[in-house]
Parts: sequence; C-alpha cells; structure tokens
Amino acid sequence: MRIIIFGPPGAGKGTQAKKVAEHFGIIHLSTGKMFRDAINEGTELGKIVKFIIDEGQLVPDQTVVDMVEETIAGEEYKKGYIIDGFPRTVEQAVAFDNMLERRNEAVDAFISLYAPDDELIQRLLARGEGRSDDTEEKIKTRLEVYKKETAPVMEHYQQAGLFRSVDGTGTVDEIFQRILSAMPEK
Ligand code: ADP
Repeated sequence: MRIIIFGPPGAGKGTQAKKVAEHFGIIHLSTGKMFRDAINEGTELGKIVKFIIDEGQLVPDQTVVDMVEETIAGEEYKKGYIIDGFPRTVEQAVAFDNMLERRNEAVDAFISLYAPDDELIQRLLARGEGRSDDTEEKIKTRLEVYKKETAPVMEHYQQAGLFRSVDGTGTVDEIFQRILSAMPEK
C-alpha cells in the first residue's frame, strides 16, 4: 500500500502519517525529516539544502526525486509506505509516477488535509520544535510557496482519480478517523 499525505505546512501531515503508518504496518517517509536529519548530521546533502530550508523555499526537484527513489528502493519499503512532504511540485508528481511505473507499482491513495490559514499559522507558531523555518516570516513564505508551487499537485491526483479531501481541523483522533474513512476500498 502506497499512500501520499498532502496539505499545507501545519495541516498535520506528520502527525497523521505516523498514525496511519502504525495502523497499516507500513513505513512513514517524510522528506522534510530526511532533510532535517541530513542537516543535523552535516552530510553533503545537508550542506546543500540547509540554506534553502531555512528560507522556507523548496529543495530542487531532482535532489528530492533522487532521494525518494533511492529510499523506496530499500527492501523494507516493499510492504508499503505513507509519504509526507512529497510530491511538492507537479514536476515531482510526474517523476514519482514514472519512478513507480518503472517499479510496476502505483499510488493507492492521495489524502489531502485542509485547514484555514490562520489555524495553520497558529499551529506552526505553537509547535515549539525549534525549527529554524517556524518563524512568522518563514511560515508566510512557506504558505506562499505552497499555494503557488504545491497546491497544483492536487489537480494531478484528481485527474488520476486518487484525490481524497479530508477536514484537518478537530482532534488528532477525529482527523485520523476521517482519513481511514477516506481510504479507498481494497
Ligand atoms: P512543512 O510541511 O511543515 O513545511 P516539511 O517537513 O514537509 O514541513 O518540509 C520542510 C522543508 O523541507 C520545506 O519547506 C522544504 O524546504 C523542504 N522539503 C521537504 N520536502 C520537499 C520536497 N518534496 N520538495 C522540495 N522541498 C522539500
């Protein structure tokens, strides 16, 4: 089972992806977390992406696509995964389609979480994880980048018949139940 969890910054993708992964016994893959880990470990990749991420901008498509392709080639990803933070541009979505096709695989569901902007901003400011991109200015940039570059990804999966829209407001458990209800029948 391969699930994409999608939504603006602060929509709760990471929180919900973790629960969904546990529920189905699949892996949670977060491109944002992979980049933050690389930065903390001081790897080559980390050095390349640090400035971009701190600014709230997007890492170049090819860098992300290569990282995802390498990751999902791992044996443990065979049983499935929920991917959070990718694809974030239409170009990434097309590259993901092609990569999966080469592997004789496909996406089973695209779950899109929505919440009003003022709530997203409040959540990110309250998150308190000390992320360098969780300042008011960088949050504003990330929301703008989302609207301009990432939101069009929804249309891509709508055309593929995989798009499911889920209300991302309420308690963590309420949202989780909505996600389970939105999953396609097997
Ligand atoms: P959020 O959804 O709260 O913005 P993420 O952890 O998903 O947080 O992403 C943090 C940052 O990592 C993004 O602002 C971006 O710079 C980078 N990033 C993560 N995934 C991608 C991606 N698929 N393409 C480009 N940049 C990415």
